[in-house]
Amino acid sequence: MSFYSCKSQSSPEIYKEQQTAIAEDTTFVNLKEYSTDFVYDMKYATEDNFLKAKVYDCAECYLRLKTVQALIAANKEFLKKGYRIKLFDCYRPLAIQKSMWKIVPNPEYVADPAKGSIHNRGGAVDITLVDKNGKELDMGTPFDFFGVEAGHNYPNLSKKVKNNRSFLKKIMTQHNFKSLDSEWWHYNLQSALKDKVANTKWDCE
Ligand SMILES: [Zn+2]
Repeated sequence: MSFYSCKSQSSPEIYKEQQTAIAEDTTFVNLKEYSTDFVYDMKYATEDNFLKAKVYDCAECYLRLKTVQALIAANKEFLKKGYRIKLFDCYRPLAIQKSMWKIVPNPEYVADPAKGSIHNRGGAVDITLVDKNGKELDMGTPFDFFGVEAGHNYPNLSKKVKNNRSFLKKIMTQHNFKSLDSEWWHYNLQSALKDKVANTKWDCE
């Protein structure tokens, strides 16, 4: 990425400006073009999800560039400790949100497309952690489990599950992501709410 190469030649002021520009960059990009350190299990590109329907034509993880930068920084921390992020869902075009809403028109399970979710803004990810062998850490429930057990504050979880969830939350929070109380897998980039809902669809080969 070009901004790294010009770092050393820049004055502190210009460098700061560049950093601000990067932090605010809302361009949609494909995560795999910026890092090879993630594991992907894009559930909505398969029928293995709560909708029992394949709603994406192909599995790609698009996000706004600022979300990608924050996610890569968080993943570097996990990698240092022997883990990495596995992704279940990233940016979700508004048209897809509408088709999900058609299948399950219940705001407890699907964000109302009239409001749009942070996934539609390119600032949310659904994730878990895997170890060196690619094995998912025990988070107490599967992804998209709609019950109180999926909540961060649910008390009847084993110590191991609580530790795994708080490990994920701690590092993500340190990298400007915000957790959602009811879903241990969902993280929003702090600044994403001010970004527009989008409907850009990515190309499939
Ligand atoms: Zn989510």
